[in-house]
Amino acid sequence: MNVRRLIPTAALAGALALAAPALTACSGTPSAGAADGRLAVTASFYPMQFLAEQIGGDRVQVASLTKPGVEPHDLEITPKQTAQLGESDVVLYLKGLQPAVDEAVAQAGVKNTVDAATLTKLDAHGPGGHDHEGAHGEEAGHSEEAGHSEEAGHSEGDGHSHGEAGGDPHVWLDPSKYAEIAKGVGAALEKADPGHAADYRKNTDELVGKLTALDTEFKDGLKNTATRTFITTHAAFGYLAERYGLDQEGISGVDPESEPSPARMKELQERAKKENVTTVFFETLASDKTAKSLAADSGLKTDVLDPLEGITDKSQGADYFEVMRSNLKNLQKALGAK
Ligand SMILES: [Zn+2]
Repeated sequence: MNVRRLIPTAALAGALALAAPALTACSGTPSAGAADGRLAVTASFYPMQFLAEQIGGDRVQVASLTKPGVEPHDLEITPKQTAQLGESDVVLYLKGLQPAVDEAVAQAGVKNTVDAATLTKLDAHGPGGHDHEGAHGEEAGHSEEAGHSEEAGHSEGDGHSHGEAGGDPHVWLDPSKYAEIAKGVGAALEKADPGHAADYRKNTDELVGKLTALDTEFKDGLKNTATRTFITTHAAFGYLAERYGLDQEGISGVDPESEPSPARMKELQERAKKENVTTVFFETLASDKTAKSLAADSGLKTDVLDPLEGITDKSQGADYFEVMRSNLKNLQKALGAK
């Protein structure tokens, strides 16, 4: 419960009524942050928003700090959003993905603040997933930074910090890890609004069931393929690759503003040839320039692999599940699923 947002309205009502005692203006005010008694949840970006909506159902009113179509890593927080954060009953975010959000959340000091990164285990992933040992070694933190700051859609170099632990934040792209986070979010909503705990529990169970089914679809759909390697501009699919035994090759270089180095492009071309790669993936929210030039140079096709950092009318589906199934279909095509 948070009554701070009600104070200005109450004060204004009192002032307009002139003679009315301040206390009467407060009578009948809702007990939760949202005006209609629902729990006011602020989510940092789409995958958090989707969890809050699915688990909260009609008990919550969900606002997202990242508007559809905005590249989430580069997000800047407006004063209005900072105020909105402070008035929330629950804040749900993923530390390490959006530095501006991390800062604003820390300042807001909302009691029910949920960091999704604490609800599952984060790993480090390099831009090239073929060497699993290397990807998890000491150097992974460096290659991770380099890999992500090079992402085509991320125009801001430092925008993609991975937090102190150096873990890859793109956990939602692994349905199993996303389900772990869903369970934690369900527990947090139960705690914030114990009166509706049974609803949150039921919705959580349903969502986890659907995510488990999605995981099975991916497992089965990617079991038998001509190649295990895929190339992507946005190296966001490290968890997905690891879960299903695939190798992600991120197009990456050192300077985020520059094209990938000729050496990296050559390396990717050779790798593509060796591993019978057919497709270079790009994402809907970002430029496809690098993907297209690599594809043209190597005689490869391009297709979309959506990191689900936001949903727009260009997305290949209306929600998490639809876009993930499009991703699966596109991966199957590119990998030559039998
Ligand atoms: Zn990303």
